Amino acid sequence: MRLDRFLTQQTRESGKAVRQWLLAGRVQVNEQVCRDGSLQVEPMQKISLDERVLQDQAARYYMLHKPQGVVSATVDEKHETVLDLMPPALRADLHIAGRLDLNTTGLMLITNDGRWSRKVTQPETRIPKVYLVETEDKIEAEYADVFRRGIYFAYEDLTTLPAQLEILSDHRAKLTLYEGRYHQVKRMFGFFDNKVIGLHRERIGALEIDAQLNAGDYRSLTNNEVKLFL
Ligand code: URA
Repeated sequence: MRLDRFLTQQTRESGKAVRQWLLAGRVQVNEQVCRDGSLQVEPMQKISLDERVLQDQAARYYMLHKPQGVVSATVDEKHETVLDLMPPALRADLHIAGRLDLNTTGLMLITNDGRWSRKVTQPETRIPKVYLVETEDKIEAEYADVFRRGIYFAYEDLTTLPAQLEILSDHRAKLTLYEGRYHQVKRMFGFFDNKVIGLHRERIGALEIDAQLNAGDYRSLTNNEVKLFL
C-alpha cells in the first residue's frame, strides 16, 4: 500500500494533513525520515509519525454520560476532564467530538477517529443536537417563534439557525439546535433574561444517550451507531 494511504487509514486524518506531515519530515519509515507519499510500504515496516508508531491503531468510538463539574477537554489544570473518567490505557489517543459546558450533563462522543469526529461537529453537516433545558423563570409560548426565526448574536455577527422548542412544563423544555455556538442554549434563553439552571444533552443526530449509563459512565458504540455519522 502507498505510504500516504496508509497514513490516512491509520490516523483517519485528511490527505491534506498527511501531505503536510510528509513535507515537514514528521513521518519515518524504518526510522528514516520519508517525504514520499507514493512509497510502497509493507506490513512489517515500522512507520511512525513524530514518535508514535502507527501500526494497529484500530478506530475506537465511545459514548459517555458527562456529569456536572467535569470539563469536556482532553487536559485541564483545574478540573477533572471527561477523559479522566476512562482508564489511562484506553484514553491515550482519544479526543472528544463536541464540547459541553462545565455544568452541562449528558451525551458526549469520544473517539480516536478524526474524520468521524469532524463529521459530527462540523457546522455544514447540521446534525441536530437535542437538549433538555431547565430555567429559573417561566418559559413563555413566544420563545418557540423567536427561536424558530433565529436570534442575532452580536459577538459573532450572525443569526442562529432555526431551532425547535418543545415546552414540557413552565420551567422545562426540549430544544433542538442544528449548530453549536459558544454557550448557545444559555444565550438563547438569555435573550429573554431567563437563566438556564439545568442543561442536559440527550441526543446527537439519531444517537440517544443510553439510559443504562449513569453520570460518569461510558460504553463503546455499536457498529450501527458508528455508521450513523459515516
Ligand atoms: N449550549 C450551552 O449553553 N451549553 C452547552 O453546554 C451546550 C449548549
